[in-house]
Amino acid sequence: MRTPYIAGNWKMNMTPSAGKAFAEELRAAAEKAGADVKMMVAPPFVTIPAVAEALKGSNIIVAAQNMADHTSGAYTGEVAPAMLKDLGVNTVILGHSERRSYYGETDAYINGKVLLAIKEGMDVVLCVGETLEEREGGKLEEVLSTQLSGGLKDVKPEEMAHITIAYEPVWAIGTGKTATPEDADGAHQFIRSFVAKMYDSTIAENLIIQYGGSVNASNVKALMAKENIDGALVGGASLSVEKFLPIITFN
Ligand code: PGA
Repeated sequence: MRTPYIAGNWKMNMTPSAGKAFAEELRAAAEKAGADVKMMVAPPFVTIPAVAEALKGSNIIVAAQNMADHTSGAYTGEVAPAMLKDLGVNTVILGHSERRSYYGETDAYINGKVLLAIKEGMDVVLCVGETLEEREGGKLEEVLSTQLSGGLKDVKPEEMAHITIAYEPVWAIGTGKTATPEDADGAHQFIRSFVAKMYDSTIAENLIIQYGGSVNASNVKALMAKENIDGALVGGASLSVEKFLPIITFN
C-alpha cells in the first residue's frame, strides 16, 4: 500500500556536465533493470537544469536540496520555489541535518519553508533525526517530537499527502554506520505514531517514511523489509550508478 520511495541526495557534488552524464547513465540503467520504485534525485541547484533535461519523460523525479523561505525579492543567494517549478522541479528536501547544523536552520525556519512549498503546490521531504549525544542521552523521542511538531506546524491534514518524512540519525550520515534495521524501524514507528497523534491514523498509515544514513547495496534489503521503513534517502551511494542501481532495484 505504501509505494517504496528511494531518493538520492547528491549534496554538493556533480557539476552540470557531470550531472547530465550521470543522469543519462542512471536513466538507461534504471529502465533496463525495470526499476519500479518511486525514484528521485536531488542535484545541486545549478546542476538541476541539465539533469531535468536528461530525465525528461523518465520516471525519475528531480528535486531540490533546499529552497528559500520567500517567493522573490532581496534575498541574496537564495532560490525561490517559482524558479524551481519553472525547471519542472516540484519536490524539495527540507531540514536536512547538514542545513540544521552547518547553516543554523531551526525548526521554525524549516517550517516556514515547508508551508511555502505546500502553498506553491510542491512535495516536501522533511528530514528529522538525532545526534549520537542525543541518542545516548535517551533523547531520541524528544528530539523527533520537537522536529516533527515544529516542522509540520500548521500543515493541514489534507496537505500531509505532500509530505514525506526522512528519518536520518545524524551519527549514521556519511559515517558508514547504519542504524540496525530494528533501531531504524523503532524510530520510524515512533514517527508514525506521533503523526497519528498530530493528525489521524489514516494519515499516519499512508505516510512514507524514508531512512537515511549510510544506506548501501548490502543493507537496503534488510532495512526495506521492516514494516515502517518505506524508502531511503541515500547520500554517498547515490553518486555512482553502480552503487545506486542495486538500491533502486532492491525489490
Ligand atoms: P549518506 O547520506 O547516505 O552518505 O550517509 C545520507 C543523507 O545525508 O541524506
